[in-house]
Amino acid sequence: VDESQILAVPKPDEIAWDETVDVLVVGFGGAGACAAIEAAAAGASVLAVDRFTGGGATEVSGGVYYGGGTRFQREAGFADTPDEMFKYLKMEAGDIVAERTLRRFCDESSANLDWLAALGLSYSGSFSATKTSYPATGIFLYFSGNEYAPRYAALAVPAPRGHKVVGKGTTGSKYYAGLAKAALARGVRLWTHSPVTRLIVDSQGTVVGAEVRRLAAEPSDLKRHAQIYRRARRMVGILTAAGAAEAVQRVAEVEGGSATTVRVQARRGVVLSTGGFIFNRQMVNQYAPLYDDAQPLGTPGCDGSGIKLGQAAGGATRRMDSIMASRTIAPPTALVHGLVVNREGRRITAEDAYACTLGRLIAEAPGSVAWLILDRALYWDALRDSLPGNGRLFLIHCVPAFMSLLFGSKKARSGAELARRCGMPVDSFLATVAEYNRIGRGEIDDPMGKKKDYRRELKGSTLFALNISLRSKTAPLATLTLGGLDVNEDTGQVRRPDGTPIVGLYAVGRTAVGIPSNYYLSGLAIADGVFSGRRAGRHAAGSPR
Ligand SMILES: Cc1cc2nc3c(=O)[nH]c(=O)nc-3n(C[C@H](O)[C@H](O)[C@H](O)COP(=O)(O)OP(=O)(O)OC[C@H]3O[C@@H](n4cnc5c(N)ncnc54)[C@H](O)[C@@H]3O)c2cc1C
Repeated sequence: VDESQILAVPKPDEIAWDETVDVLVVGFGGAGACAAIEAAAAGASVLAVDRFTGGGATEVSGGVYYGGGTRFQREAGFADTPDEMFKYLKMEAGDIVAERTLRRFCDESSANLDWLAALGLSYSGSFSATKTSYPATGIFLYFSGNEYAPRYAALAVPAPRGHKVVGKGTTGSKYYAGLAKAALARGVRLWTHSPVTRLIVDSQGTVVGAEVRRLAAEPSDLKRHAQIYRRARRMVGILTAAGAAEAVQRVAEVEGGSATTVRVQARRGVVLSTGGFIFNRQMVNQYAPLYDDAQPLGTPGCDGSGIKLGQAAGGATRRMDSIMASRTIAPPTALVHGLVVNREGRRITAEDAYACTLGRLIAEAPGSVAWLILDRALYWDALRDSLPGNGRLFLIHCVPAFMSLLFGSKKARSGAELARRCGMPVDSFLATVAEYNRIGRGEIDDPMGKKKDYRRELKGSTLFALNISLRSKTAPLATLTLGGLDVNEDTGQVRRPDGTPIVGLYAVGRTAVGIPSNYYLSGLAIADGVFSGRRAGRHAAGSPR
């Protein structure tokens, strides 16, 4: 905890405030924008300050919203209900939030999507059942988790709940642009290039405002700040852990320069919505060292600054070790027909498992090593299906598959030779392949529960192994952080270790513990940003002091 991040003022009324508002929103990504809109709608004057231009991880994301019982599902012929959504999510979220909070999240899910639509965002029931890491062009509703895997489908009726904003390519930028436009139209003011560096606290421990560093004073600093951010944002999905650390360091240098410090009084509350901490490699090393070499997904704003501010004000954290680790293998669909083994030559999962389930299993496998085994026909089918076309998105679907197939694979003329080349025990690997082939021929059922459409015998003696390990050079696991500040689940107020709320301080989105903090599913972070953002915005606006 860094005490210098707190400015204690015994008498806030005697301070020379530069600006006074009802609600100060610190970080203008998805969750912050939702908090700002909700607070403004409740009649509060709202200032949002963002370290860069706004948008954060939300803007570079897929923009998928996880929702159940929606009109778009009905359009596609699915009679999903909040109850089935709850039954499914309970299995994934566990006890990360109280049962009544998870229930409320599910009950409000469809209304929250309607709220987004009313703000001007566009959704659709155009659906495809094809397994995919992200919907191809023209598809806006898909299965974005483990819903149809047998162990879940036995307890909750599967339904596609991933709702992508209508638009071309990845639509996180459309999602953010829609929210930002709606917020500004409702009177929210936005200061860009304005990081918050200290919270201002009175003698009771109430958060009464914040210090903002405004970079606008020095054009050359501003230019450099914007440049570092733009570059890092362009490299989402490519930037390595070392690249992320370097970007954060360069940002800190600029921010330590010529900025003007401005004191903003927040009469009703300060909302911390600064995202997660995957770009802060020290924090990742401290809380989740297994993922030290994995690829960080996010922007230089994801350096945990809001979590640290909350801690300095006395806030507790939870599940800081919880990481989303994604290993997408489809499209191309041919790859889902293959066999996934660990370095002991043993199968670790049904290969059609959701990307982040597969990723976590790989991370937790011995040495975090895993191989995807293909026969010759599957290898060539996959290569053909990696070519642009059929609605495939070049950067998301084609490039990673190509990289793995062409530069991250080993080929051998026999199973034994492949096992040796991959450092796997030969007998164990051959036994695994033999059993997998019996499943593929339909002689035995699959104990892992892979969908029948994807079961397949590996034919011929030539086999390929794609390196899908955590530290694969061609495609390391992609990661996000899921833990954060502990909050009161009715109000969004940050809580101290003893559970009491810190008056005047809220945390939302990935700065807080929320629905996805135990287990991430595609769409759950955006949906949680709406849920937690609206909750905090509403409560803060209604809390005059
Ligand atoms: C490539 C990618 C794809 C993804 N796809 C999906 C998806 O399809 N669906 C889904 O649900 N989730 C997805 N996610 C995850 C999801 O986007 C994020 O977890 C979520 O959007 C985080 O929202 P947030 O508002 O909490 O934080 P952010 O959107 O990161 O916003 C935080 C903001 O705070 C600002 N900030 C940081 N520090 C300060 C400070 N000290 N002072 C002022 N401002 C500050 C940042 O500049 C930033 O603008 C994806 C993530 C990535 C990276």
